[in-house]
Amino acid sequence: MGFKALNKTDNKIYSLDYWQRTFTNETPYCPVCDEITEIRAAGSVYMKTHFFHKKGTYCPSVRENHSKYELLPPTERDTKNGEKIINWIRVNISQLYTKCKKILNGRLRFKEFSDMLVKAKEKNIWFYKNLTINTLPYVLIVNFGVYPKIDGRREDVWYIFDKDMYGDTLFLRNKITHIWKVTESELERIELDYIPQDTVPDYVWTYVKPFYK
Ligand SMILES: [Zn+2]
Repeated sequence: MGFKALNKTDNKIYSLDYWQRTFTNETPYCPVCDEITEIRAAGSVYMKTHFFHKKGTYCPSVRENHSKYELLPPTERDTKNGEKIINWIRVNISQLYTKCKKILNGRLRFKEFSDMLVKAKEKNIWFYKNLTINTLPYVLIVNFGVYPKIDGRREDVWYIFDKDMYGDTLFLRNKITHIWKVTESELERIELDYIPQDTVPDYVWTYVKPFYK
């Protein structure tokens, strides 16, 4: 289900409402997977009108597909960089928490944050090549899975990369520019911010011994 679509004639993303009011012959594309979608259930009282993927879609924005797009452990490890990342986390755990919480619209339980780190450890995601402390919060969030509806979080929500960012485990080969926030009723593109003050200088790492083996 989706409520936004890409118009390839101007390469812009439009809401369903706007689309229905404005376009007649344009083809709506899913902005995440680039597949053609169609508008369904218009006028139905049971189901909200939405952009519908073709049957058998592999789009990661479709909830049933989510588990197919969980991050895989890196096949080629960058151990040195991974240890730096881990040491940075140790020193800056509260900064990392704050950043993740900010991305998650101000709602993140400590337990969830802890689970995010545990899950990342299980998959050794620290050792992805080119992982940086700026991309780390986003990778942790995408890796976590579905954040359930709780107080202050109106519905289940999960975060994904573009479909073509998956594939091989070296998805970080390219610089990540955005992730997608997905709920049953919304699709929102979130630009990564690479604000310089988020970056801790390299020398911090030299004071910390590796804590993770
Ligand atoms: Zn799609």
